[in-house]
Amino acid sequence: MELTASELWSLILQSVQARLPEQAFRAWLAGTRPGPLTEGELVVEAPTPFHAEWLEDKYGHLLREAAVRVLGRRLSLSFVTGDFPASPVLPALELHSPAPTQQPGSQESGHGVNALGLNRRYTFSRFVVGGDNQLAAAACMAVAEKPARMYNPLFLYGGVGLGKTHLMHAIGNALVAGDPRKRVAYVPTEQFMNELVTSIQEGTAAEFRRRYRHMDLLLVDDVHFLERKERTQEEFFHTFNALYDAHNQIVVTSDRPPKEIPGLEERLVSRFEWGLVADIKPPDYETRVAILRKKAADDALTLDSDVIDFIARSCTSSVRELEGAVIKLLAYSSLKHQDINVALAQTALQGMLRRDGPEVRPALMIERIRRAVAERWDVPAEALASKRRTKDLTVPRQVAMYLIRQILDTPLIQVGRLFGGRDHSTVIHSVRKVEETMASDPSFRKEVEALREELSRKV
Ligand code: ADP
Ligand code: MG
Repeated sequence: MELTASELWSLILQSVQARLPEQAFRAWLAGTRPGPLTEGELVVEAPTPFHAEWLEDKYGHLLREAAVRVLGRRLSLSFVTGDFPASPVLPALELHSPAPTQQPGSQESGHGVNALGLNRRYTFSRFVVGGDNQLAAAACMAVAEKPARMYNPLFLYGGVGLGKTHLMHAIGNALVAGDPRKRVAYVPTEQFMNELVTSIQEGTAAEFRRRYRHMDLLLVDDVHFLERKERTQEEFFHTFNALYDAHNQIVVTSDRPPKEIPGLEERLVSRFEWGLVADIKPPDYETRVAILRKKAADDALTLDSDVIDFIARSCTSSVRELEGAVIKLLAYSSLKHQDINVALAQTALQGMLRRDGPEVRPALMIERIRRAVAERWDVPAEALASKRRTKDLTVPRQVAMYLIRQILDTPLIQVGRLFGGRDHSTVIHSVRKVEETMASDPSFRKEVEALREELSRKV
């Protein structure tokens, strides 16, 4: 069956839609159009150069994987700017260094991803090390320096958007930078799976094996997709052994530790555990600030420290979320022709924050927290939500804000609204105040912690 460009593109979009937050899909993909489709290549038109670069950078892999799912073979995708009406957002959005196509002499394909499948942007120097990814980052650096010596395999796991893929590419980039002859391959598990299936269908299994079994460094991303794929697991097992026996390095990532991947054969679990298993946790406040500062510096943006503080306190789940917030803020600021400050950030990020904010169940929980605190401090629960500024309400109100932030991670703006329409800086101040008192007053700390534990159990 022959697909037209637009049929193909809409199938690809359908396939990625389920995997992306609705907002991201709408912002980056909904406005695209398929351009010419030639054998093995589809040109995709994006509304602006910024969209085109962003698509390549952030969604290129996802879209190519989707293309493999749709077509059963690889499709080369390129993103160009279509002749859409000019958007007012663009000129001011100089987020990134020039696209690779503008760098003559570069060996890259022009998509920010080189022939080895490595994204040149994902380097160690662009990676911020904090308490939550320290072990993983150190292990990756050690592996890049001396592959197959210390940690083989290296197994990285953690939630979405925490930097696993970035670190993996960083190892590859560092190794090739040190010695361009090194054979490195980066492959998402789904691609590995699809290539395997195709190679079986086409009788080219031997070539498939050769491709992956003769690498100095094999990077396999998201191995939790091996879940219950017996045939692929079998093939992967042999690939693993071949590489391992030849003293070549294997790095894999997953969203959970080996033992917790359902339907993963025991022998693979045990292989994965031979080396080092390192986890990455969501960044703490300090790391979030450091990441935002670094992004700002790398992209020559000016973000005041109170704006950075605001974003770091509002976006707590992943680095990807932080990046999304910055992009959104920049787009908003150039659209509105307003300078970036906290007030603008509040408006710009509102939709985003609300999406992550409490809905039905959290609303109940918020009420429960307010009541528990009110009871403990012996004040009316309604008074906590009021604008009243009497002294006996100050501490319980602060504690309630603190607990809501801690337990539910409710966005600052929203917490402010729950307590008589106070603004986000009051919430920040309250949370800090509670943290300070907890640090200096052990009995206060015990009480707050007991409340927190009791309430956390009910979430
Ligand atoms: P994962 O593979 O864990 O889902 P990614 O590696 O794709 O996450 O990271 C998501 C985004 O966040 C990427 O753009 C990446 O560059 C960025 N990122 C993640 N962790 C860090 C970090 N510690 N320092 C700088 N950027 C980071
Ligand atoms: Mg990843």
